[in-house]
Amino acid sequence: MSAILFDRIDEPGLNDIATYERRGGYEALRKALAQPREGLLEELKASGLRGRGGAGFPLGMKASFIPGADIDKYLVCNADESEPGTFKDRELMQKNPHMLIEGMIIAAFTVGANRSFIYIRGEYVLQADVLEQAIAQAKAAGFLGENILDSGFSLDLVLHRGAGAYICGEETGLLDSLEGKRGNPRLKPPFPANQGLFQGPTLINNVETLATIPAIIRMGGSEYAKLGIENSAGTKLVSVSGNVQRPGNYEIELGMSSRDIIFGLAGGPDEGREVKFWFPGGSSSPVLTAADLDITYDFDAMAKAGTMLGSGAIIVVDDSNSVVDVALTLASFYKHESCGKCTPCREGTNWTVKMLQRVQSGEATPMDLDIIASVQEQIIGNCLCVLGDAMAMPVGSLVAKFRPEFESHIEAARERNGLGLTPPPASEEPVLSL
Ligand code: SF4
Repeated sequence: MSAILFDRIDEPGLNDIATYERRGGYEALRKALAQPREGLLEELKASGLRGRGGAGFPLGMKASFIPGADIDKYLVCNADESEPGTFKDRELMQKNPHMLIEGMIIAAFTVGANRSFIYIRGEYVLQADVLEQAIAQAKAAGFLGENILDSGFSLDLVLHRGAGAYICGEETGLLDSLEGKRGNPRLKPPFPANQGLFQGPTLINNVETLATIPAIIRMGGSEYAKLGIENSAGTKLVSVSGNVQRPGNYEIELGMSSRDIIFGLAGGPDEGREVKFWFPGGSSSPVLTAADLDITYDFDAMAKAGTMLGSGAIIVVDDSNSVVDVALTLASFYKHESCGKCTPCREGTNWTVKMLQRVQSGEATPMDLDIIASVQEQIIGNCLCVLGDAMAMPVGSLVAKFRPEFESHIEAARERNGLGLTPPPASEEPVLSL
């Protein structure tokens, strides 16, 4: 497979507009501006590209929800990249910023948006500097601003730096933050396509999704759709981290074997170690085990296995790690990042951390594991945004798949801390309801 997003990504000077144009950069924009907007929308639909930020919603369909009326519309690029384990957008923005800018201009032209923003997380200082310089170059070259390439289309692009909060990667929390408010998720509906930034219709997509658009226009949507497999078209950047010998970002064709990614590309765990479990789509995805390594890496196969492809961040955990430590670290992260707006997430993340701390110290009983599992079930699907689920799904899957290890951990900790034998189970079912 020839790379698309990472094509010669390490070429020196690629973040400069001269190098980008020498390689054919901004040709897709010229091609797009010469076409009717309806035709471009059809190309995006034909590509089958599903959003690369986590939800996997088809780009063409999302763009088609933007009303055609001649009113103020917005394009927003979600560069918050806050899901633990995900670091692909960072490399893409740093090394090839013009690919993202070109994709944004085409997307804005397609939906008739004249104002666009890149919302980048506060910690990405270098990437923000690189993008600022690239935006200035694109403006000077006439690709941004008034009457772009004499097409009659104008676009303003502003880089906005966030303060660094997980919840600002959630699209409506991001929009609130961009408007200068605290980044709290909004109730949906209305969806951003109808009422987004400053109440106007807004197309909001992730960096990788928007950066793929020039390739789709260059190749043609149906040609792009030949990459990957049915319902999971195209290439995908995967960030592989954790217990692997060659952690990093890799561009793969969707439908590749997960084993080939983890072992073939990333080298697998160190000699003598084995994969214990792995997160296939960032820390918020339910875990898979070594028995699942031959599942293909695509949207449908992951859903069928009870998990999700998410942002494409594979975190590998080998047999030297404690499942209790991993669950507690995860829960603590999401508890810290919860905005506190809705009860199941605010209370559920807090309770989960406290109960896992008791498991870790040996003060818990096996009945507490039932309560932990029950709290996760009550969080899933009952929150205002996905953060509650982001903790409940992986923690629930860890308790379900590794319960014997949780129990033996409690036993060992009781003995170590002189707490005596595990108390007998209570005669009644635990009553704990959110
Ligand atoms: Fe806030 Fe959590 Fe509710 Fe999302 S799920 S709105 S982060 S409290």
